[in-house]
Amino acid sequence: MAEPTMSGSETSPGSAAATTAAQAAGAHSIGVEQVSKEYPGGSVALREVSLQVEPGTFVVLLGPSGSGKTTLLRCLAGIERVTTGTITIGHRTVASDRVHVPPDQRNLSMVFQDYALWPHLRVRENVAFALRRSKLPKPDAQARTRAMLERVGLGRLADRYPNELSGGEQQRVALARALVAGTGLILCDEPLSNLDADLRERMRVEISSLVRESGATAVYITHDQAEAFALADQIGLLQNGRLVQFGKPEEIYSQPATPFVARFTGLSGELAVRVGAQHAAEADKTVEIGMDGSALLRPCRAGTSVSWTSGGDGILLVRPTGVQLAGTNDGDHHLAGTVADVAYRGRGYEHAIDISGHGRLTGIFAPFRVERGEAVGLRLDPAGCHVFPAVAAQDSAVAAAPGQAAAVPLSAVGPE
Ligand code: ADP
Ligand code: MG
Repeated sequence: MAEPTMSGSETSPGSAAATTAAQAAGAHSIGVEQVSKEYPGGSVALREVSLQVEPGTFVVLLGPSGSGKTTLLRCLAGIERVTTGTITIGHRTVASDRVHVPPDQRNLSMVFQDYALWPHLRVRENVAFALRRSKLPKPDAQARTRAMLERVGLGRLADRYPNELSGGEQQRVALARALVAGTGLILCDEPLSNLDADLRERMRVEISSLVRESGATAVYITHDQAEAFALADQIGLLQNGRLVQFGKPEEIYSQPATPFVARFTGLSGELAVRVGAQHAAEADKTVEIGMDGSALLRPCRAGTSVSWTSGGDGILLVRPTGVQLAGTNDGDHHLAGTVADVAYRGRGYEHAIDISGHGRLTGIFAPFRVERGEAVGLRLDPAGCHVFPAVAAQDSAVAAAPGQAAAVPLSAVGPE
């Protein structure tokens, strides 16, 4: 089949183009205030979730299975009732202890993981179904349906039934149906997870451009961090029914609020560290970090707004971007290790390094190949290293209280 053409230009919220498109689409803001959801039977799926979304923003809710993503989406859609809390879409309160606006009156559309197409309707009828409530004259509705099918590359398949389409094609029909009515809010529940990896990547780009071109606000859920980072203007991390962090992808990556967030968004590995004595001269801004009982990690300095008692146990969470291969001479490196594995990745090589007695760091990229068994040094880059008190690392289900479990930004890691 013909590949759909992508002429849409990518815009970010706040840009003039995005604002214009958002206004044209009548994009909705979303307000979620202290929403909790307890299912009959006592299972608590959402715990006091609050977030604010500007019109035209592409929000991705990311979290492991069972963290409450689908429940939050279904509460936004009106398929589930909130137990407590308030949801506003645009200026309208759609859910509270007194209000429950049904899904078809919320001016939103949904894309489901299993496509949810009508099996007895042809492709064009499935898409046109979304226009049944609009006051468009029939020829206009037909023209709009045709244009949308062309837009998603399904023009030639308009007369087929869903069971005559591949999974990717069915998902495109679902996407066309969600977009055709021009609703101000599009909700997507893991729409790519049933597709093959190659198709998933292409569909992701299509969803991104089509949804942004529509100007609608989008809430998209996934358990795949790479997908989340690729799509999102804003990412919300859900853990055990709580929203543990909400921010731009760059913020989530560079300033994870809790060890859970850091772990779920990609780590090279973790090292137990001992936080050394604070430097007297800069008592409240630096801590010294060294690995307990060993000289493997040379003491290095960390700028911090958190004051710890010296000698506390900590955990160093290392992003793949926070560690580089270095020479083995003294002074060149912070850590010494041995190559456990090396994998060719096209752009270069990814290494797994064993740090004897302290575990393994993986995904360490280099443009050159270092063979298994070779000794290497590792340099840490403060921007990709996050130190948390060990106690916070254990109980990561609890969001960090300010000044408690917050990551310590390493400002100047270096051999002393
Ligand atoms: P996710 O989409 O992140 O995998 P869900 O929102 O589906 O998470 O589920 C969150 C929690 O709520 C889970 O513990 C799940 O078992 C529970 N849950 C979801 N739907 C129901 C339901 N209809 N009845 C009872 N418990 C439910
Ligand atoms: Mg789900």
